[in-house]
Amino acid sequence: MSVPHYEMYIDGEYVDSADRYEIRSPATEELVATVAKATTADVDSAVAAAKRAHEAGEWRRTSPGDRADIIATVAGAVYGRIEELSALQSQENGATIRVTGALHIGLSVMQMQYVAEIAKTYEFESAGPEVTAPLPFAGIRRREPIGVVAAIVPWNIPLLTLVWKVAPALAAGCTVVVKPDEHAPLVALELIKEFEKAGLPKGVLNALVGDGDDVGAHLSGHPDVSKVAFTGSTQVGKAILRQSADTVKRVTLELGGKGPNIVLADADLSVAVDGALYAAMANNGEACEAGTRLLVDSSIAEEFTARLVARAKTLTLGNPLDPATDVGPVITKQAQERILGFLEGAKAAGAVAAVGGGAPTGAEFEKGNWIEPTIFTGVTNDMEIARCEVFGPVLSVLTFDSVDEAIKIANDTDYGLSAGVWSVDEEAAIEVARQLEAGMIYINDWHVINPNYAFGGFKQSGIGREGGPDSIDEYTEAKYISIDRAGPVQNRAFGLVLGTPPA
Ligand code: NAD
Repeated sequence: MSVPHYEMYIDGEYVDSADRYEIRSPATEELVATVAKATTADVDSAVAAAKRAHEAGEWRRTSPGDRADIIATVAGAVYGRIEELSALQSQENGATIRVTGALHIGLSVMQMQYVAEIAKTYEFESAGPEVTAPLPFAGIRRREPIGVVAAIVPWNIPLLTLVWKVAPALAAGCTVVVKPDEHAPLVALELIKEFEKAGLPKGVLNALVGDGDDVGAHLSGHPDVSKVAFTGSTQVGKAILRQSADTVKRVTLELGGKGPNIVLADADLSVAVDGALYAAMANNGEACEAGTRLLVDSSIAEEFTARLVARAKTLTLGNPLDPATDVGPVITKQAQERILGFLEGAKAAGAVAAVGGGAPTGAEFEKGNWIEPTIFTGVTNDMEIARCEVFGPVLSVLTFDSVDEAIKIANDTDYGLSAGVWSVDEEAAIEVARQLEAGMIYINDWHVINPNYAFGGFKQSGIGREGGPDSIDEYTEAKYISIDRAGPVQNRAFGLVLGTPPA
């Protein structure tokens, strides 16, 4: 059966390559599409095209309103294809169809609409404060596009992580080279097609798919790239920082997490039990903001765990395209093996697999990369399972005896992306939230991704924020133009310093 083939998009042209990737469903191993495999020479061409487009200036001189209109047009086009793109997303990365519709595609559309809206009133230029004393100055404050942006994204939430970068970068007037992940690039490449159809000038947006340690490294270290916007693992984020150092690139890094989810003694268990599972298992547990450490007050731990385990046993593992499926496959065989290693390590360290704990058996699971939804009890925060990002449907339950202890355990991690608190006492929950070291705290919920709120983390979860009202700032440089309206003020200023004012 023939499958679609996706090419690179460089300088307004679709370009093929000698080598190809095969994109296979992580559930069935069926071939979904082939994709041109870029080389470092293709990176050079794409960056050169983006640089030429930046220097030519057509896009950065297009009015902010017209730039916003293109982003809004693409949002509308993606929304019109939501069913098709949700299915494609499930096929290429195994995320379940309910999640791909709402989270992957739906939120990406909302994010683009939001950026298009804020771009219209963004202050690209404004009068600076008039200063009269000690010397009279007027000024102009400008925010100018940074230049060529490299947008490098992972496979787990490919479209939203890309839209978080491309929409504000284009709104700012930057030019962009996109590198989707080599395991799940298809929906991202569909987005590029929509931007082409919407009429972006050539060279403004370029896309290629290549191996991370080769093409990704070459792109993020490229001297003509002014900013790297990256989402992925903390390990690669550190490499990006090193690769960016030589030319002092701007970076935003959205990295890993180990979200602590705190259930206080007064939590409403009728929502907290499902909430804890949702926090950990949504998107097959392959979510940076997942709530993977469940911290339960010891006074309710027995009842809570019993209800959690009973509910977890009802989760359906299977075909991600089936709307009844709760948890799909993990991305690759290597990921499956890595996760199984964590599960064995947890058991060896004394944790108890109250649900799951391995790979499922049965004809349905002969092909594909499967991990049983797993809940470990008896976990302590020093265990590997509580410290490392497992990135699969695995939840660790820990207990605490006081709120102070819960906060201490929650903050005892290298990460700081998400955290949550369950309580019927909103004030008490907010007080706990204030003390948690994380960029996003959810009270009585999880995975709340709202375009109005910035997404990002403390500590080794990253640098900078995406989404939210300041998202365009991340793609602009601040410039201040001061205007001397009273003669040679500079000389007089020196005069003041030196004590010999000129006549
Ligand atoms: P990864 O870091 O392995 O890969 C991410 C991207 O970086 C891919 O496109 C890859 O090709 C590229 N890459 C790899 N090595 C590179 C290098 N040396 N230089 C430049 N690019 C390179 O991550 P992954 O396994 O694809 O994704 C999972 C990780 O992403 C998890 O750690 C998850 O927490 C994180 N993530 C974070 C967020 C967030 O917003 N904080 C969102 C989604 C995923």
